[in-house]
Amino acid sequence: MCTNHNHDEATDTPGTAPDRADSPHHTHAARPDRDPSDLAECPVMPGNMVSKSEADADGMYRDYNGTRHYLCCDTCVALFDSDPATYAKAA
Ligand SMILES: [Zn+2]
Repeated sequence: MCTNHNHDEATDTPGTAPDRADSPHHTHAARPDRDPSDLAECPVMPGNMVSKSEADADGMYRDYNGTRHYLCCDTCVALFDSDPATYAKAA
């Protein structure tokens, strides 16, 4: 029986392609108008930082059990409203 079915898939690796395009738009835009103490973490999506001043202005927060919780987006506001006890506890 001929078991010479050993197709070595294209053994010609195209070397190292020179796709090292140093993009010029790699600038660290540190926003000086963003005070770290103004940031709160969204209890619905942990890791999402919310600007308290912006959240206050946009109504993107909920007061629950005497604590103000800042939400990062409309979806989180809706989720928080649907189950505030869960999210307020996680915060
Ligand atoms: Zn969100």
